[in-house]
Amino acid sequence: MGKSGGSGDERPEILIVEDEPGIVEFLVPGLGYEGFATRVAPDGPTGLRMAMEKEPDLIVLDLMLPGMDGFAVCRSLREHSDVPVIMLTARDELHDRVHGLEIGADDYVTKPFHFRELAARIRAVLRRRKGDGQAAPGHTLQLQEIELDMDLRLARRGGHDISLTRREFELLELLMRNPDRILPRDTILDRVWGHDFMGDDNIIEVYVRYLRQKLGEPNPITTVRGAGYVMRSQRPAAGEASASPEAGKEGGHA
Ligand code: CA
Repeated sequence: MGKSGGSGDERPEILIVEDEPGIVEFLVPGLGYEGFATRVAPDGPTGLRMAMEKEPDLIVLDLMLPGMDGFAVCRSLREHSDVPVIMLTARDELHDRVHGLEIGADDYVTKPFHFRELAARIRAVLRRRKGDGQAAPGHTLQLQEIELDMDLRLARRGGHDISLTRREFELLELLMRNPDRILPRDTILDRVWGHDFMGDDNIIEVYVRYLRQKLGEPNPITTVRGAGYVMRSQRPAAGEASASPEAGKEGGHA
């Protein structure tokens, strides 16, 4: 990756062709937090046109669509393009999956699906297509001096491996995929603990503290009081922090 900064331009782009607003509404922000840019088409013909106008890195293609179904879209696409396609199919369309793969979809996900499953399949397909994951938000994330190894599920800093629990890893991953973006508590809870989490949101503070302890000094995670948490792509020079609009940084309190 080696991106320097938070401009979204280099993010892999996913075209979502889906007519159900409920699914679009959770996919767009979800994929955004996973490091992807998104465009949305609400029906088959629009999806096909958008894919032709500007080829995305991957298409999430619903099967049952107005205008033109997912099979027809995929078949037309394949006449011109090799773009990776993941199909969304309902559970009772089992035989259709096979058909989907036959007409050139790369993978499929059955509705209802867990967001994490779709995100994992998107990454897997992108990695497979690109060889070693240049277009995918890759095997290794890097921010500040911290490296996050997505395969071994551990962090590295200063040449040391730092083992992380699953939640710690997911929290750090979320922060690292969104450099310079202040992540509100609700977003963190939703993405790391799941929207059905019933506990105290104090849990985030606890896990941030664990991460700070494990990752060591200088503290890589900034608390933005009343707003959330952020990892900067570059640590502000001393004295700069209080000049920023989100002053109130309360970094490494122990
Ligand atoms: Ca549909």
